[in-house]
Amino acid sequence: MAEDYFLVDAHAHLNELADLPKSLQEAKEAGVCGIVAVGMDVESNKKVLQITKENSEFVYPALGYHPWLIREEEIETNLSFVRDHAKEGVALGEIGLDYKIKVKKELQWKVFGEFLDIAIESDKPVIVHCRYSHRRAFDMLRERKIKRAVFHWYSGPLRLLDEILKVGYLISATPALAYSPPHLEAIKRAPIERILLETDTPVSNQGREARPKDVRVSLDEVSRLKGLDPSLVSEQTTENASRFFKIRF
Ligand SMILES: [Zn+2]
Repeated sequence: MAEDYFLVDAHAHLNELADLPKSLQEAKEAGVCGIVAVGMDVESNKKVLQITKENSEFVYPALGYHPWLIREEEIETNLSFVRDHAKEGVALGEIGLDYKIKVKKELQWKVFGEFLDIAIESDKPVIVHCRYSHRRAFDMLRERKIKRAVFHWYSGPLRLLDEILKVGYLISATPALAYSPPHLEAIKRAPIERILLETDTPVSNQGREARPKDVRVSLDEVSRLKGLDPSLVSEQTTENASRFFKIRF
């Protein structure tokens, strides 16, 4: 029964949902007790703060700058907005590096670095997106001695995963576990104490758009992979989220 669970969706793009009230209601009914809404640029950061104001006690904001949306002429505007509002969030994200896109690496490194500096100044954890850039992202976190980081939807090399885990960072599990072997291998390898559950709403999984209630799919997949009872996985991952974001869900 849903009320047996207290789940946290640690990564959702709620600002992209046309059916937000319905999605939040369904999430509550599925046992979700908290959602971290991540921003990707100035517009979505503003929207994320608005949504969290209207749904405080349930939705928590993270302000970010997704590498996909970096535009040279908008960097300063977003950075100054985030500097002004970082304290209102529970984390900085979604931020990171993506080497499969056209945005220049130099620009991505600059933005990611600036956000890591804001994370240090505001004492917030970071939610990191990586594609073909895991090593560089990890090195940048370590250079700045970042203490709290989660590698969202980790599907990178397993050898690097060992280093990520060794320094105390987390990875997050998405419903893609049902069909993505690299993601599945990573979650298999990470101890349950280092895993957060998420949905990356509204990403499409095999033709179906995710919603925060689908954190139940992440829960079921992690439980199956680990051979653990879902209620135990629910309890542990929510505890992980509370510790990571420094809030009580
Ligand atoms: Zn995302």
